Amino acid sequence: MTEATGIVGEFLALKEETDADILAMQCGDFYEFFADDAELVAAELDLKVSQKSSHGSKYPMAGVPVDDLTPYVSALVERGYRVAVADQHETTDGHAREITRVVTPGTHLATGDASAQHLAAVVRHDGGRGADGETYGLAVADVTTGRFQVTQLDDADAAAVLTELYTFSPAEVLPGPELRADDDFLAALDERSEAAVSLHATEAFAPGRARHRVREQFGAETLESVGIADDDAAIAAAGAVLAYVEETGVGTLAAVTRLQAYGARDHVSLDATTQRNLELTETMQGDSAGSLFSTVDHTVTAAGGRLLKRWLQRPRRERGELVRRQSAVAALTREAMAREALRETLSDGYDLERLAARATSGSADARDLRAVQDTLGLLSAVADAVAETERLADSPLTEVLASADREAAADLAAELDAALVPDPPGTVTQGGLFRRGYDDDLDALIDEHESALEWLETLPDREKGKTGITHLSVDRNKTDGYYIQVGKSETDQVPDAYEEIKTLKNSRRYTIPELDERERDVLRLEERRHDMEHDLFEQLRERVADRAALLQDVGRALAEVDCLASLAVHAVENDWTRPELTDDGDLAIEAGRHPVVEQTTEFVPNDLSMRPGERDFLIVTGPNMSGKSTYMRQTALITLLAQTGSFVPARAATVGLVDGIYTRVGALDELAQGRSTFMVEMQELSNILHSATEDSLIILDEVGRGTATFDGISIAWAATEYIANEVQALTLFATHYHELTALGDSLPTVQNIHVAADESDGEVTFLRTVRDGPTNRSYGIHVADLAGVPDPVVSRSKEVLDRLREDKAIEVRGADSSDEGTTQAVFDLSSGQFDTGREPVQTDGNPETATTGKVEDTLVDAETQAVVEELRNLDVNETPPVELMAKVQQWQEDIAEE
Ligand code: ADP
Ligand code: MG
Repeated sequence: MTEATGIVGEFLALKEETDADILAMQCGDFYEFFADDAELVAAELDLKVSQKSSHGSKYPMAGVPVDDLTPYVSALVERGYRVAVADQHETTDGHAREITRVVTPGTHLATGDASAQHLAAVVRHDGGRGADGETYGLAVADVTTGRFQVTQLDDADAAAVLTELYTFSPAEVLPGPELRADDDFLAALDERSEAAVSLHATEAFAPGRARHRVREQFGAETLESVGIADDDAAIAAAGAVLAYVEETGVGTLAAVTRLQAYGARDHVSLDATTQRNLELTETMQGDSAGSLFSTVDHTVTAAGGRLLKRWLQRPRRERGELVRRQSAVAALTREAMAREALRETLSDGYDLERLAARATSGSADARDLRAVQDTLGLLSAVADAVAETERLADSPLTEVLASADREAAADLAAELDAALVPDPPGTVTQGGLFRRGYDDDLDALIDEHESALEWLETLPDREKGKTGITHLSVDRNKTDGYYIQVGKSETDQVPDAYEEIKTLKNSRRYTIPELDERERDVLRLEERRHDMEHDLFEQLRERVADRAALLQDVGRALAEVDCLASLAVHAVENDWTRPELTDDGDLAIEAGRHPVVEQTTEFVPNDLSMRPGERDFLIVTGPNMSGKSTYMRQTALITLLAQTGSFVPARAATVGLVDGIYTRVGALDELAQGRSTFMVEMQELSNILHSATEDSLIILDEVGRGTATFDGISIAWAATEYIANEVQALTLFATHYHELTALGDSLPTVQNIHVAADESDGEVTFLRTVRDGPTNRSYGIHVADLAGVPDPVVSRSKEVLDRLREDKAIEVRGADSSDEGTTQAVFDLSSGQFDTGREPVQTDGNPETATTGKVEDTLVDAETQAVVEELRNLDVNETPPVELMAKVQQWQEDIAEE
């Protein structure tokens, strides 16, 4: 194929310049896509492809009208593409085209929904300040609101930074130079997040340049004052985000007014899996209805809803801030009238954070500025309402509202109100925007324009009087300009001065010299007026953009009040209670409920009591569908709600603040949804065992279920021992492996509880009540019996089960009695029993000569012998679960071979 020339050649050359996926190039009144881009866009958006001939070759071509580009770009960006836009501009010799912006998932301004849209950069610096760990920097911007947050994780690993990253649900991630070469990191990112990954120019991450960029944006001293002057990784990430936003050319950089440095340690770790398992913002099925957020959300503004979601996704660890929120919620629960009045007032507000971004990017119109004015005005109304109600005035709400400058807000609101007409048009190029008295020159121009218009308006009467014609009007259209129209029946009365310009069916159109002259005047004045108003408007918008930080402050203060009021509404309507927050790790819940399930079910409340060092691991047993998962999730959700400052669904609760909540839901529940494999289950378990601390809360629901029973039990058993002995996190572990309840008898901090069921009258009735101790029987066999499985099979199952449960089948690690150290049990395949191997198998390396104990009686072959030996020597505490799994599988194969 010959090299493309002409318009297609220009398109392909521009495409070379950008690393965007798709280019939209303006050609007159259309944006066109050519070649591969045309095919791609057509397939994604259902556009028609035509063929463009260019110098003997044909190219696919698709186009959209200039005014319709935005929704098409939005749709493409939502599908994860980065779209470059090349605009056409006039030059002295014709026109030229250049790329003016690149729209990406993280920098897309015209987003339709109200939720936050995060663009993140992650940087790794090897061998940083931490002795041997790595240092990670993370910067996260929301260009739709100007929020910009930065943190650094010293001496951390990839899992930690990913966990931190997931709490933002980023739309787009820019990995730094080291990380983009790290396939494991990229794979983890790809697997666990829906973010688009963009490889931005590495220079942007360079320390010197990044530091300069950040200083330029926020001021020279900012890094020092927010305390990250030495955090090179954080600065590199911040600089890269700023550079990227600037280079994509969306013009929102000015909305990014403030650098918020935060310690990752301020927030509760909640990885993506946990957010999904706890159904924080969407259910496992992917619906937002039925999520925790949609259940507790009673906010009346978009910004309030966004903030509430962030509170749920990023719970806090610091008691002070939580108690502050709690106190405000408490005051609001008790002042129903004032609360409803506040919410009513707030509901009139618009999204100030978004409006600030529109002002700085130059896309705000006069209606937007009116919205700014209205919403700024609400600050005083809300503050007055709070001040008037004593209990609210004495609460932290006063402090929240004081965080925004009320006087400055009132001044700007007054300025806007004095400038703009009450109900301005939606376009800024057609005039009609400003009030009289705002600008003297504009007023003079308007006077002139209006008197010219008045002359036109009164012309028909004057002409009627002069000529006696009754059907006479003056009108205007695009082709004829202004004209005098006379009905057909009276055209013979038309004076000679009238010059006919058009004949219609029932009338004729005329002009007169005077009218032509006035028309020129009017059009000239109109154009001057439009231009002048447009200029004045741009100046006004500019002044609003200069005060973006004020808009953001006011927006955030109002959003926080909205959010606190929402929590109060939910607490009152659902009879929630204020939890006591402590630092000693106790978790005590009286009559707790599941916040979502209680909405639709006659819920049976349950107590929970856990205490570090005494009762920190609960093994939860009970039949299928008895309520195990619900009980565990409600515990996690109550903890999470408490750490957002919310009240909780319980009669009373004491919540020891946790540093992380980790969940793993068994493969079967998830397999049904096609999401999980045993490998994923084990990776998640591995992540928990690595990341959780003694201050964490762990929820394990049926771990080990995704594999054969003996693998499953072994892993569940070993994981329980490891958590109870080493990690010492508060843990709830639901299992259908009854064998595990033996651990509750032996390990001092591990206790059994069960969800009770009643089985009289030949049917299992779920009581939904949690009690101490393990379940006393196998409900599986019971159900088989009920279902009419023949008696011999049922009784044989019981026999087999009893043998499997052989008491003390496995020596328990960490049990008080086992001061002999660590003996591992062997499951003897030939006898179908656990062999505790009290008598160690003696061997001189030659399996044939093994002579001692039971092993001899059962004639163990060489392969089995080798496996037994390996098993005996294996240190479970030192072996990662995934490796354990691989080993167990290997052993099975070894034994199966012969
Ligand atoms: P399991 O994990 O033991 O199989 P689930 O927790 O999934 O059981 O609960 C099974 C069903 O019982 C669910 O539909 C849940 O809504 C309901 N349920 C669970 N706990 C309660 C409770 N305390 N009160 C009322 N309904 C409950
Ligand atoms: Mg369950």
